[in-house]
Amino acid sequence: MCEEKTRLTEVYGDATGKFSHSVNELQEKVGKSSIEEYERFRRASEEWRVHSEQARLALEQHVAAHKC
Ligand SMILES: [Zn+2]
Repeated sequence: MCEEKTRLTEVYGDATGKFSHSVNELQEKVGKSSIEEYERFRRASEEWRVHSEQARLALEQHVAAHKC
């Protein structure tokens, strides 16, 4: 097992977990919070979505380049 692949897989799993958590949080805020607060959570969620997407790409690129 490639160490870098293991690391990238963990980063991806972490980012994906945080993204899904942030989506749940966001859904809880609907109708219960101010527009500003909702917007803050929406942006945080969007950032985690981008992070997890980047982590997935990094993992795919590593696997393609390293053939691991
Ligand atoms: Zn590798």
